[in-house]
Amino acid sequence: MKTSGYPTLIWGNEIDVVKKGTSLAVTAGQATYKRPRRPQRDPVGMAKMAAAAESIHQLGVDAPHARFANASSEAELIQFVRDFGPIHANSVKEDLVRARGRLVAIQNMELLRAEQMVFRQCVDILAEIKKGPDADTSAAFQAVVEICFRVAKWPRQWRAEKKAREDEQTVPIWRFTQRDFENVEAWKAFSGPEPEWIGSQYDELDAANSVLCLILNAFIPHVQHWDDITVEGPHWDIRYGVRPCLYYALRNAYLGRSPLEKCQNSECQKVFVPDRAGQQFCSDVCSRLQRQRDYWKTRGSKRRQERRGEASR
Ligand SMILES: [Zn+2]
Repeated sequence: MKTSGYPTLIWGNEIDVVKKGTSLAVTAGQATYKRPRRPQRDPVGMAKMAAAAESIHQLGVDAPHARFANASSEAELIQFVRDFGPIHANSVKEDLVRARGRLVAIQNMELLRAEQMVFRQCVDILAEIKKGPDADTSAAFQAVVEICFRVAKWPRQWRAEKKAREDEQTVPIWRFTQRDFENVEAWKAFSGPEPEWIGSQYDELDAANSVLCLILNAFIPHVQHWDDITVEGPHWDIRYGVRPCLYYALRNAYLGRSPLEKCQNSECQKVFVPDRAGQQFCSDVCSRLQRQRDYWKTRGSKRRQERRGEASR
């Protein structure tokens, strides 16, 4: 049985984005599971992201999940949607009348920004967990607090998608119930600097790991057989957005199946997929800048010491 390779998994062909008030209208030709006639800007990236268990070399900060984690401006977010489709659409229709069956999705901008933050905070949690004993536990816990605040809306999102899909007799490919949210909330309450549960045995990193698991478990991977290959990946029905693909990539990073790092240049901190083990910086420029900064820091303190020495003489 072949298990390598992955069908091209894209949201749609020739994606077009128009900003209308507080939302983006995202349209595209319906995706098929063959190579698109006119390749997208980065369909290979998407497919490789889906198959992140395999090599995703040399994507660096351009790997789709890294790009989304790094997209802090509105322009970057809109460009991401233009390249890959909505993250989570409020509604998805097939425009049979005017647009020959093109998909029409509405992506709310506020939701897009919130989703970017949740994803980034999950990546930040992962970065702290990977540091082991050197982890900044208060940073990890702060991320837990912020995730909890933002995923409070997920149960409602999920119910709305479930309802919207009823007519076509499909169900959401993700699942996050009120109970799941309450579990996230409980982890927040039972750990941290002042746990509500006195005598709690859990620390910030327990909460960080458990909340990351709860988030990742909302996006259930599927085993699929395609041509003559069998693969695991996000469910193929990503019409309501590519968020499950992003979390699938994060799942692989968390499980150590694929590398994902945060640039160690303290003024960059971009997320990237390293080309080689131990790579700490997203680029040569960042590596050089941080080395210079470290050099001046040590040199500066040496000179201050020297000066102090001269003064006391
Ligand atoms: Zn960098």
